[in-house]
Order: sequence, then C-alpha cells, then structure tokens
Amino acid sequence: MATQAEQQTQSGTTGHQEVNHKSLLQSDALYQYILETSVYPREPEPMRELREITANHPWNLMCTPADEGQFLNMLLKLINAKNTMEIGVYTGYSLLATALALPDDGKILAMDINKENYELGLPVIQKAGLAHKIDFKEGPALPVLDQMIEDGKFHGTFDFIFVDADKDNYLNYHKRLIELVKVGGLIGYDNTLWNGAVVAPPDAPMRKYVRYYRPFVLELNKALAADPRIEICQLPVGDGITLCRRVN
Ligand code: SAM
Ligand code: CA
Repeated sequence: MATQAEQQTQSGTTGHQEVNHKSLLQSDALYQYILETSVYPREPEPMRELREITANHPWNLMCTPADEGQFLNMLLKLINAKNTMEIGVYTGYSLLATALALPDDGKILAMDINKENYELGLPVIQKAGLAHKIDFKEGPALPVLDQMIEDGKFHGTFDFIFVDADKDNYLNYHKRLIELVKVGGLIGYDNTLWNGAVVAPPDAPMRKYVRYYRPFVLELNKALAADPRIEICQLPVGDGITLCRRVN
C-alpha cells in the first residue's frame, strides 16, 4: 500500500516541492487552523505588532513563524531560562518571544551582522519594556563566541541558545556552544528540515539558497545525532527545530 507521501507524489503534490507556507504540515489549511485557533488569539500584542511590521519587509520569509514563537516562549518558561543567547535576530520576532518569557533580570546576548533589521523591531521591544534584557552585538557571531571561550568565564553559563543564522556555520557554532551552554541547558538549531529539502532527490526543484545550504543541514543533522555530549529532539515545528540538551 502506498504511503501518504507516495500518494501525494502520485497526485503531483510531493512533500519536498517548494511550499508557500512556513510549515511542514500536510496542508496549508491545517497550518492555518493551528494559527487561527491556537496561536493568533493568544499572541502577545507586541509580537503581533512586530510580526506585522516584518510582514512589510522584503526578507520577511526569514521571520520565525508565529507558532514557533509561541513554542519558544513556552519552552523558555518551562526550563526557567534566565541567561540566553540568540544567533540570527533579523527584526527580532524570536528575540521578543524570548524576552517575554524571561524574568525581569533575564538576559539575552543577541547577535546579527545586520543591525538595521534589528532596529526595525526595536521600538516594539522598547515599548514593551523589554530592551534592558537584550545585549545586541552587531557582527558575525563566530568571533564573539571565540572571545567568550577564550575569556573562560562564560563556560557553562547559558540556559538556552537559539541558533537561526548562517546554516553553513552551524557546526562551527556547535563546537563553541557546547562549551558555553550549561549542563542540562538547551541549544535549539533552527531550520533543520530545510523546507523539506533534506529528503528531496538531487534533481528536485529547489531555490538556489536552499540547494546551497542543504548539504550543511544534512551534515549538521548527522553530527548532532552522533554527538554523545547531547540528547536531541528534532521537532517539525516551523521549518524544523532540533533541541539539544547538554548532558555532560
Ligand atoms: N530569528 C529571526 C526571527 O525570529 O525573525 C530570524 C533570523 S534570519 C532567518 C537569519 C539572520 O542571521 C539574518 O538576520 C542574518 O543577518 C543573520 N546572520 C547571517 N550570518 C550571520 C553571522 N555570521 N553572524 C550573525 N548573524 C548572522
Ligand atoms: Ca529560522
């Protein structure tokens, strides 16, 4: 008997074809149902405002989807996160989801090579009274991580680290972040299902950037699955997020 994926292939709607929505669910309607039933009605006003500002930006495809923002917000509360890091801020939707979840004395070290986009969302973060939790550093993240490793005093200090930046550097980040996250803390790598491209045949239609980063995502997924220093859980939320819990 044909699997659902095979049936979809036969009917011409393969799971790995380019999709318009930001989800890996079987239909747009199902994703819309989640958003309209459980996400938008409970979305904090600042997150709605920032999402709407971002919707007008030409690169809005990069924005963390609202259901993933809701997930991150709850996850951070569940683990009582206080000291966190984010690599890849864009206009700040996941940053805001994080800032809302942290206690008033919580901290987020946020890094992005592009400050202009961060400044688009910043007024919303300021209006919500959350800017004091954020230490934004403009520039590539890797040298900052190297400096922190060299300093020594940041080892094992982060409760949560969200990585949502240049996919060809994820393994370089992982080498450093595993030192910086505390034992029992979490690193979340975003987009690990890469628009479904992780299972696409080489000749499948793919945007140029999807094809370019695909091998890096595949390599990361293999490396995380084989890393004895972490426990992992890859969730089909958004474009796939792999949670890594440092065990030693
Ligand atoms: N988390 C964001 C959100 O919720 O909207 C989305 C981040 S977006 C997918 C990726 C970001 O990574 C871009 O803003 C880009 O400028 C940034 N980036 C790319 N290379 C980087 C690097 N080497 N270091 C830091 N940030 C980088
Ligand atoms: Ca992402």
